[in-house]
Amino acid sequence: MVDLKDSPDQAAFREEVRLFITDNRPQKFANRDDESGWSKDWRERTKDWRGALVANGWIAPAWPKEYGGAGLSINEQFILNEELAENGLSNEGGFGVMMLGPTLMIHGSDEQKTEHLPKILQGDSIWCQGWSEPGSGSDLASLQTRAVRDGDEYVLNGQKIWTSGAQHANWMYMLARTDGDAPKHRGISMLMFPMDSSGVSVRPLTNMADVQGFNEVFFEDVHVPVENRLGEENRGWYVGMTLTDYERSGIGNSVGTQRRLEGLLKTASESDANETVVSKSKNWRLGFADRWMEADIARLFSYCNNTIQLNNMVPNHEASMSKLFTTELNQKIAATTIKLFGLYGMLWDENRPEALRGRAASTYLSAVSATIAGGTSEIQRNIIATRGLGLPRG
Ligand SMILES: Cc1cc2nc3c(=O)[nH]c(=O)nc-3n(C[C@H](O)[C@H](O)[C@H](O)COP(=O)(O)OP(=O)(O)OC[C@H]3O[C@@H](n4cnc5c(N)ncnc54)[C@H](O)[C@@H]3O)c2cc1C
Repeated sequence: MVDLKDSPDQAAFREEVRLFITDNRPQKFANRDDESGWSKDWRERTKDWRGALVANGWIAPAWPKEYGGAGLSINEQFILNEELAENGLSNEGGFGVMMLGPTLMIHGSDEQKTEHLPKILQGDSIWCQGWSEPGSGSDLASLQTRAVRDGDEYVLNGQKIWTSGAQHANWMYMLARTDGDAPKHRGISMLMFPMDSSGVSVRPLTNMADVQGFNEVFFEDVHVPVENRLGEENRGWYVGMTLTDYERSGIGNSVGTQRRLEGLLKTASESDANETVVSKSKNWRLGFADRWMEADIARLFSYCNNTIQLNNMVPNHEASMSKLFTTELNQKIAATTIKLFGLYGMLWDENRPEALRGRAASTYLSAVSATIAGGTSEIQRNIIATRGLGLPRG
């Protein structure tokens, strides 16, 4: 029988996390039902919370202590993320903590580590990731932004797109083509530069949920010192793919999914007092029961990925299964939520009380992008089919 209970040490750590959350939880998050201001900029909403994590040394749970991280074990990271998600919080590390830091530890020079790691930990440098281009997303290695070597510098020209947070970031790490004649994976280098470098311009994009989360970023003769290259020249593809040292269980997502369903259950149960909850049909109840079971399955995927890491392996197609299942489930939950409110579900106005202050509609629209970001659902299915099931590539 599967035993999911904490050991005494794990239980003690869980208690420590709970106390920390109780003591530091921003007042704005204290009441889960308080939906006010949900559309405000997340950096502003999470500023105090982020500061508390930095002060406690938990902003980078997976980083080793020698680099200023918390050096938590896989299980402790899992518990921390589980408890944060239970309380509607996240660890706010961003691209710097999740992606660039672990890559710097492996491929960075001593100077690069000394310069960047402390600033990432303190939140002084906010990073964005310049990988996708208008013609290169799933097939990222086809990217065309050029970095031409000129003495001690590269001169960068081209364009990135869908760059999350570029409008707030002060640094970018990115992939650029440094050898146009080499096979596509072998002519790419990874570069880092400040966003206020001359020749960098950012144009925000508004998504269909009316949120400016990502951007186009243009480079016109941007001069990047060679010392800002991360790893060897033309080996950037392999440097960029080295992002293994971070939490991959996805427990935060699956717990968040369950919490959303619990909220919906509460709303549906209280519906007699609320005329805007219109659908209590049998179909709705059956659909909700399906979502409830699926959320349990999503959580089991997380436990499975955690177990793989505990066995010193890196989840691969298993991480794809979890990402695919959870992001598609969140879309189904959004549809189930809309159905609960009937036509009110389409109202999208945080100043009106109906349909969770318009959150039903906005969440429905926001849920789309997660099945595209970080590798589309089709790409995840390809990974599961080929790497997981050994089926031939088409
Ligand atoms: C919310 C969000 C945030 C993002 N943030 C960033 C960021 O910070 N930095 C960054 O660099 N990028 C970012 N991206 C971009 C993201 O990585 C790409 O959108 C994604 O990789 C898909 O690339 P694409 O949009 O070019 O679509 P394409 O690759 O052009 O795909 C178009 C369609 O074809 C399908 N398809 C493509 N190839 C195959 C295949 N081999 N088999 C089957 N189907 C296929 C896809 O699944 C998709 O349905 C973000 C995207 C989103 C939605």
